[in-house]
Amino acid sequence: MRSIRDKVVVITGASRGIGEAVARAFAAEQTKLVLCGRDKTRLEKVARSLKLPEGNVVTVLADVSTRTGMREIVNIAYRKFGTVDLFINNAGVGGHRSITETTEREYDLMMDTNLKAVFYCFKELIPRMRKQNFGHIINISSLAGRMGVPGLAVYSASKAALNTFSEAVAGEVRNDNIKVSVLSPGSTDTDFAHGLTGKRPTSSPDSKGKLTPDEVAEAVVFLARQNQSAFTSMVDIRPLRVKK
Ligand code: NAP
Repeated sequence: MRSIRDKVVVITGASRGIGEAVARAFAAEQTKLVLCGRDKTRLEKVARSLKLPEGNVVTVLADVSTRTGMREIVNIAYRKFGTVDLFINNAGVGGHRSITETTEREYDLMMDTNLKAVFYCFKELIPRMRKQNFGHIINISSLAGRMGVPGLAVYSASKAALNTFSEAVAGEVRNDNIKVSVLSPGSTDTDFAHGLTGKRPTSSPDSKGKLTPDEVAEAVVFLARQNQSAFTSMVDIRPLRVKK
């Protein structure tokens, strides 16, 4: 396994949940970090908590579902560090909704955040990674993208599309020394569902039978540390024990 010390790592959705845990895991590897989100207070709190040397962590407030937001993230990363070794598309939204309850606005929100943002990322990043002749993009999908889950129809569809989209692009860029990997976690103990409702949960959700954000982060670091000549394209991670 290679060292990733001093590598430049961009993480979207780093203000909480899995993205925050991924930021902590990479900080422990002494990487340089670009943390993105929209909640300024939370994002800056996460950045401060990492205790990295001054100048090794940058925060970017941007909406990944817009082309200008994604362009801003990529531009700031290159302006600050001159390169991007690893870009983690983690920002995502979803939540339980029957198809008849799902509004068109919610449909667009899930598709734009979970899928179109990655299109913008590829458009902005791949030409630069081709020029530098290396790079790794890790897209956080979901086990809900492997099968159509009742109550998560649009979310499942957005993640299933993300899987095949990533697989196709990976084939286009692998001979340019660029990897595109997909990590699909099962249910993870975060406040995830509030991304759709905009409401923070009033009680803690039941964490039984769920992964912890740190367990997902460990798998992301595993992908990042793999030797440059090897390419793990798709990884599923699930809790060992199921809820009874
Ligand atoms: P979370 O706790 O709700 O965090 C979501 C993150 O995404 C937040 O940091 C949020 O930042 C950011 N975000 C959302 N929309 C954004 C936008 N338009 N622009 C920029 N940032 C945006 O969710 P999580 O559970 O950590 O989920 C992270 C990823 O894992 C998602 O892709 C999700 O689909 C996937 N996943 C989650 C689970 C699960 O059970 N939790 C399972 C499988 C896969 P701000 O609030 O600062 O904007």
